[in-house]
Amino acid sequence: MNKNEAEDLLSQLPLPAAHFNPSGEVVCFNSAFTKLLGYTKADIPDVEAHWLLFFPDDAYRAKVQKDWTTMLEASAKSGIPIQPMLLDIAAKNGEVKKLEVHSLQIEDLAVTMWLDFTEKLKAEEELRIAAIAFDSESGIMITDSDGVIVRVNKAFTRLTGYSSEDALGQTPAMLKSGRQDKKFYQHLWSTLLEKGFWHGEIWNKRKDGSIYAELLTITVVVSPDGRTRNYVGTFSDITQNKVAEAKIQHLADYDPLTELPNRRLLDERLGQVLISTKRSKLYGALLFIDLDKFKLLNDTRGHDVGDMLLQQVAERLVSCIRESDTVARLGGDEFVVMLKGLNANQIEAVAQAKVAGEKILATLNQPYLLAGHEHRSTPSIGVTMFSGNLLSAEELLKQADIAMYQSKIDGRNTLRFFDPELRKS
Ligand code: GH3
Ligand code: MG
Repeated sequence: MNKNEAEDLLSQLPLPAAHFNPSGEVVCFNSAFTKLLGYTKADIPDVEAHWLLFFPDDAYRAKVQKDWTTMLEASAKSGIPIQPMLLDIAAKNGEVKKLEVHSLQIEDLAVTMWLDFTEKLKAEEELRIAAIAFDSESGIMITDSDGVIVRVNKAFTRLTGYSSEDALGQTPAMLKSGRQDKKFYQHLWSTLLEKGFWHGEIWNKRKDGSIYAELLTITVVVSPDGRTRNYVGTFSDITQNKVAEAKIQHLADYDPLTELPNRRLLDERLGQVLISTKRSKLYGALLFIDLDKFKLLNDTRGHDVGDMLLQQVAERLVSCIRESDTVARLGGDEFVVMLKGLNANQIEAVAQAKVAGEKILATLNQPYLLAGHEHRSTPSIGVTMFSGNLLSAEELLKQADIAMYQSKIDGRNTLRFFDPELRKS
């Protein structure tokens, strides 16, 4: 077959094809080849140019040349046709294409054809990455534009208890715990529509009814024409973090022996009450309670028995007050009761505080049963009143402490109100 006949034959092939002579020189190629790689005849004057252009990377070129020679030799020896090779070939514009090279014999013509797998392999790679991502530790839920679940991953099932059969066709509302109100979801949707994503913490419910906290990111997937195609929710279970956070918060705010609020939390609540009494003009009272001769119990019956008394005193104090009031343990045998919402009239309010204080006094006077033995304990109580006053929480506590000290001086097991005159003495 002469060159013209060869050219004629190649031009009839729909696939990119070229004819190489036995020494590897390109004799002719068709227009599909030029379309694929951009090279014209002038670009490829000889064998060297062909190798350099197609494989600009030295190491890769050497490898391809070696593989090619080995294959040619093996084919010559065994008579088995040359096998297709998948190669990275550089186009004229520098783009590297994944081409499968087929060498075949058409009559007496050695023809090389290229099948372009670039897009296919790229798509496969993207799918592979997507599949790996989908198989992640995070729960993934994909809905269509109407919010109907179309896919969930294994982690979704592990985290929520719902299989994909359970979830497909449902909406994410199936996970609602009821812990977030309507406003929360309205805000979520408006953020999602405005920004294209939402990120935050949310309480949801598993299939078994248990509530869990998740850190959730929702992303809107938009098609090229601008329409919303999917919503993708990716989440992890942060319940353990929440539990740990709550424990840390509890340790920071509560006394471990009695489970009563500690001084820090009392200060915080007192601060809030002081602000609210400025508006309401209602009175509040602080009762400072210190047990009498508590050391003696510790010394005679041991620290553990002392602890038991503190716990029982705490329980009794809680039983004496309303839920809106606060009992705190400051430390040692010192407790504080904060009463709020007393009368707006001072005399009335003092009378109310006195009733409460006397009730506490009487309750703490009742005998205790400590490790099988009856025990008697009494408290000394100091009271101070407050209403919209400018004193700080610390100052008020000091006043109540001074009044308590006066109770001790006056013989213990009694109640004294703070008297500003006392401060002067
Ligand atoms: P007073 O009538 O003057 O109040 O005498 P008191 O013996 O009660 O003296 P005070 O209130 O000063 O003593 C409190 C004691 O409480 C001192 C300390 O040994 C003891 N204490 C402090 N913390 C704890 C605790 O967590 N458990 C026990 N069992 N004892 C504690
Ligand atoms: Mg004491």
